[in-house]
Amino acid sequence: MGILNFKALLITALIFMPIECLFALRPNQKVLRKAFLNDLVYAVFNGAPITLGLVAIVALATASMGRLVPEFVGITVSSQPIWLQVTEIILVADLGFYFTHRAFHAIPFLWHFHAIHHSIEELDWLAGHRVHPVDQILTKGASFIPLYLLGYSSEAIGLFALIFHAHSLLLHANVRLNIGPLRWLIASPQFHHWHHANERAAYDKNFAGQLSFIDVIFGTMHLPGNAVPERYGIDDPIPSNYIEQLAYPFVPKGKTDEASTTSDA
Ligand SMILES: [Zn+2]
Ligand SMILES: [Zn+2]
Repeated sequence: MGILNFKALLITALIFMPIECLFALRPNQKVLRKAFLNDLVYAVFNGAPITLGLVAIVALATASMGRLVPEFVGITVSSQPIWLQVTEIILVADLGFYFTHRAFHAIPFLWHFHAIHHSIEELDWLAGHRVHPVDQILTKGASFIPLYLLGYSSEAIGLFALIFHAHSLLLHANVRLNIGPLRWLIASPQFHHWHHANERAAYDKNFAGQLSFIDVIFGTMHLPGNAVPERYGIDDPIPSNYIEQLAYPFVPKGKTDEASTTSDA
């Protein structure tokens, strides 16, 4: 990707690395933890295919379905104050995110794409970048398409995209952050770390991207006190580098899916 992307990544690192040092959830985790370089490759190169795919499906959806929404809806929606638009957007987008994310866990074909994200064994701010483009394009598509169809202003959507990105980095960060009872409303690092836990009680829980109360409503919340998971990752045989991970969902699985219970821990 371009210089801009590299600059943004550098700024992100300069913000999150000191925070992780000061408020580490796992103080013994190294900065250059396992697969750090591989996740850095994601952070540098993965943005381009995701942006291209996302622009394409949003354009396709608005061209084919845009006329279904009456004009007055867009006029009303976009004339609201920006803070109200962003608040509504977070709710609308996270509902789309929740159900798509849940489908990626429930449908085996989709899971092979999402498994790449869950193969992370040590979480930090960089880890959240490890996502298969197909996974991201569809999940983000489900978040963004309704926003464009409903006619939210591009300023509000842009602001939301920034908030979502920062929130996502924080959710994966190696930080201990206690937000008190707010954790039942807003997704916290503890909430999303449990989503990555390799522990049976936590499987298929905590799907929301920003609003944890969506999981409360649909009965998929798992937030046991102040506890944090003992280990992260999955048992699927995920290859260890970027190119092979991109190819993984397309490689015939056959018996290896059931047969392999090896973890590369
Ligand atoms: Zn997931
Ligand atoms: Zn995650």
